[in-house]
Amino acid sequence: MMTEFGAEGTRSGSPLLATAVQHPFTDADADLVLRASDSLEFRVYKVILAKASTVFHDMFSLATPRPSTLPKEDAPPFKDGLPVVDVAEDGRTVEMTLRFCYPMEDPELATFEDAERMLEAGMKYDVDIIVTRAKKALAVIAEREALRVFVLGVRLSTRDVGLMAARKSLSQPMWSTEPPFPPDLKYISAVTFCQLLNYRRKCGEAAAALSMECGWIEDASIVVVCSACSPSRTFRYQSGGKLPAAKWYASYMERAAAALRDRPFGQAVLDPYMLEHTLLIASQCSLCGSCALVSLSKLSRKLAEEVEKAVDRVSLELDF
Ligand SMILES: [Zn+2]
Repeated sequence: MMTEFGAEGTRSGSPLLATAVQHPFTDADADLVLRASDSLEFRVYKVILAKASTVFHDMFSLATPRPSTLPKEDAPPFKDGLPVVDVAEDGRTVEMTLRFCYPMEDPELATFEDAERMLEAGMKYDVDIIVTRAKKALAVIAEREALRVFVLGVRLSTRDVGLMAARKSLSQPMWSTEPPFPPDLKYISAVTFCQLLNYRRKCGEAAAALSMECGWIEDASIVVVCSACSPSRTFRYQSGGKLPAAKWYASYMERAAAALRDRPFGQAVLDPYMLEHTLLIASQCSLCGSCALVSLSKLSRKLAEEVEKAVDRVSLELDF
């Protein structure tokens, strides 16, 4: 039986492609040969593949013809008396897939390319453990390559991957709209990219709005009012009352709002330079100088938590 499985989409190349088949995929008593797109041949056991993959299970449930029962021109390929199944994936992808299926240590998915190839293979051959591991790896990779992971999620119609990556992209610099453009963008539509940009803008607005709404400051030990340092704005308590806000508080909130519009994630308001600048302003007031350090520490951590909550409430519209 010869079966050709076509790969969908495209894949970035990897410098670590397998060049030789190794144990345990060379076993003499195997009952099937998987032949990769680069001609590497893996001697495997059908029962292991059938248990791990519903696709292989269904394939093997069909009768396998013997070499001598068909006319020569219709005979499927055999190698050393074993049926050969051609797959569209390269040798590295096949080997990693098999390692997940076999009772052996799982391969490490440290690079985007490997996580990508395993997500595709796991989905194509319906192997849950591979899909799960690939998504976990992509969540780590998205910490530094969020746009790339987002594009992959869109390309494979994997909504949870797309949403996860979009969320993680908020901590990364805004993408340049000047050439050279991120190469992965060619795999998604302009509409999808605009949806991502709109999501980021809405997150920025929601996060920055916290600097104007003070209702989330519930801790009475956070002192943010002062009548001695010529404050430029007032602080509105939850009870509705207003008091003059300390100058450092007004400055911090202004800088925090600007930072959040650019990168709406909690850590943005814990920037050491921003905190240091705020304390410098506080030190110029005889009243604020003694209490600003504790208040700012509590305030900034609370704001960071509230930013994450605010961003969580923003939804990303995707067409899949
Ligand atoms: Zn003051």
